[in-house]
Amino acid sequence: MRIMEIRELAVQLNGQISNSVVNFAEHDVSLVAVISDVVKSGHPVIGYAFNSIGRFAQGGILRDRIIPRILSADSDKISDGLQFDCAAIYQHAVRNEKPGGHGDRASAIGALELAFWDLNAKLRDEPAYATIARHFGRQYSDKVNVYAAGGYYSNKGNAGLYDELREYINQGFDAFKIKIGGATLQQDMERIDVALQVCGNGARLAVDANGRFDFDTAMDYARHLEPMKLRWYEEIGDPLDFRLNANIAERYSGAIATGENLFSVQDVKNLLEFGGMRPSIDIFQMDAGLSYGLGHFAQIIELMESYGFNRGSSFPHGGHLINLHIAAGLNLGGCEAYPNVFQPFGGYSPQCTIADGYIRPADHPGFGLEAKPEIQAVLREIST
Ligand code: MG
Repeated sequence: MRIMEIRELAVQLNGQISNSVVNFAEHDVSLVAVISDVVKSGHPVIGYAFNSIGRFAQGGILRDRIIPRILSADSDKISDGLQFDCAAIYQHAVRNEKPGGHGDRASAIGALELAFWDLNAKLRDEPAYATIARHFGRQYSDKVNVYAAGGYYSNKGNAGLYDELREYINQGFDAFKIKIGGATLQQDMERIDVALQVCGNGARLAVDANGRFDFDTAMDYARHLEPMKLRWYEEIGDPLDFRLNANIAERYSGAIATGENLFSVQDVKNLLEFGGMRPSIDIFQMDAGLSYGLGHFAQIIELMESYGFNRGSSFPHGGHLINLHIAAGLNLGGCEAYPNVFQPFGGYSPQCTIADGYIRPADHPGFGLEAKPEIQAVLREIST
């Protein structure tokens, strides 16, 4: 069994929405296709994946460094003839890379490594969550807690926010997240009031500052948020400012969520050592597509557990099919969804049903990207 070719395609995200720090109109995503020499039903078996949402495509790193290293590996060193060895793929991908500096490289390798998980699942003719659960010695979850991540800043105002969250309820969601930090404190509190009118209570609403706040601003917000008993207060300050995170955790009794901008075992170890995260309260959002793929991500989950945190406190960033399969296969706490935004990658295929705050992955082989109508055109583009 051999790899015939590995391709990368930068795909622009649709949408004109913003959080407190970035506008997504310029963002693109690396779609990776790993084309094997195995033929089923007259077509080569191809593994697809991408490097999550809300960052940028990594075609340069993939084409200049990572893909040539994989293609130069002996076939029998990266496969046993039935499955590809994702740990060996990772080792080839990081050859000659120095430790530290886990930035864009981590998401380039993440996209590529995840494409091999899609390929392996397709070689077995099973959904990726089954392949993942078997590999890591777990029983997959048949449904996954899901929340609608929206409430971006747009020109539709508070009435638009109200309508947006009402629409999510109609779609089967019962928990939500909205952005804060992109307006004044008073305007954000008005947005939260509007959201709470729809949610009913704070336990169903999380807020996300996207790393914007310094300590004083964070505490101004914390004092207003605390009585609302919100689901969580996300990425309060700079993601690498562990002292700030610890200082807020000491003073804010509600749950804190962070981790989507930590891309390695070592970065997460620093958060666990110095960030003041509290077992049974706080939430982790590391994302395999941003952190070297599933093998490295699974080590991050094991590390969290070694520090006394339950894997149920892991809600990976990135509302898409790949993370749904990972959450189901590794029995994580849940995943997010971006209904109607971040196309073509955001959201799920029509066969993934959402009800009572849970989503059931469909049983298409692999991550099932082919079953998501919005993504089909770019899959055709990269594979022909
Ligand atoms: Mg976030």
